[in-house]
Amino acid sequence: MSSLDDVKKRAIDEVEARRDELIELSLRIHANPETAFREVKAAGWLSDYLEAEGFAVERGICQIDTAFRATYGSGRPRVAFIAEYDALAGIGHGCGHNIIATASLGAAIATKAIVSEAEGTALVIGTPAEEAAGGKAFMANRGGFDDLDVAMLVHPGSRNVAVTYALACIELDVHYVGKAAHAAARPEAGINALDALVIGYSSVNALRQHISESARIHGIITDGGQAVNVVPEHAAGAFLLRAEDDDYLEELREKVLACFRAGAEATGARLEYRWGEESRYRAMRSNRALAKAYRRNMEALGRQVQEDDSHRSMGSTDMGNVSVLVPAIHPTVAIAPPDVAIHTPAFRDIAASEAGHRGLLDAAKAMAMTAADVLLDAELRRRIEEEFRGGE
Ligand SMILES: [Zn+2]
Ligand SMILES: [Zn+2]
Repeated sequence: MSSLDDVKKRAIDEVEARRDELIELSLRIHANPETAFREVKAAGWLSDYLEAEGFAVERGICQIDTAFRATYGSGRPRVAFIAEYDALAGIGHGCGHNIIATASLGAAIATKAIVSEAEGTALVIGTPAEEAAGGKAFMANRGGFDDLDVAMLVHPGSRNVAVTYALACIELDVHYVGKAAHAAARPEAGINALDALVIGYSSVNALRQHISESARIHGIITDGGQAVNVVPEHAAGAFLLRAEDDDYLEELREKVLACFRAGAEATGARLEYRWGEESRYRAMRSNRALAKAYRRNMEALGRQVQEDDSHRSMGSTDMGNVSVLVPAIHPTVAIAPPDVAIHTPAFRDIAASEAGHRGLLDAAKAMAMTAADVLLDAELRRRIEEEFRGGE
């Protein structure tokens, strides 16, 4: 067996050898944006490419047409590269998921060369609908991430960071049922569902002053009544609750629900609500031992990588649902200047530019090098596993 450095050098060469094909695939996905659960072309192209490279591809896993699993090699460790490929409605690939998908594919193909000689398995798991619905949440519930030793995904952004954070997140739909009445002639006969919702909404506003700094509650009114001269019989809203850890999210749920109960109490309207349990996002738990290996590899490629995300401007990602099941990382690779945010047309254009291509190739190489560490360094595997279990 050659030295770890030689193996990494070879992994880099494997990515370089496919440079043009990877860029072409990334641009093709970029030019054909598909939104949540409709990523037929992207999932197909990625699967076809991996199949041609000798991977065994299962399409439509976890009862989702555009999810897939591609496997090469045998035995453990099982190293998974997670691919996202959904776009944003109206903007296209404003989150650069064309780069995520292609980088994970490139990393897996480079890792194939390693597992051809050593024990272990390289996988690409294709995960639809990150932007909406949380495809990985459904896949996690259906065993989509079972039997893995590590999982990684590199997201394009405006900074190179190894350890990133994401908020746990759950949706709450609230409905109030009141009683319709003529708003002028017989208001006393009505029960105003809109008032109930507004009281609930205002109570949530009051609650915001007293929750932890990184937690978020935000929502919209989706039904505020039908006619101005009728006491609204029905009112509804949709809210998202987010918190830095899953336990605090539980506390928040009770408090928010109390706010909406207040609306019912005050008006006499009946509260009905539904939590989006099945699409709940878990907080991201980056595995620091794995992130450290990744950082060292990315720095060897010439990028300065910040260890920890000090900015902590956090959204949520369904990669969090993977990170509670298997040691995982979700680093970011800089393709855009600091003032260009994701989910904008400017970022979309950068995701198809030279800088985007550089990010894609570096991400593929750094992930493959990190896979080499995991596959060949038993001591690293022990540290990753110990940290993961310690965080249970
Ligand atoms: Zn996004
Ligand atoms: Zn994204």
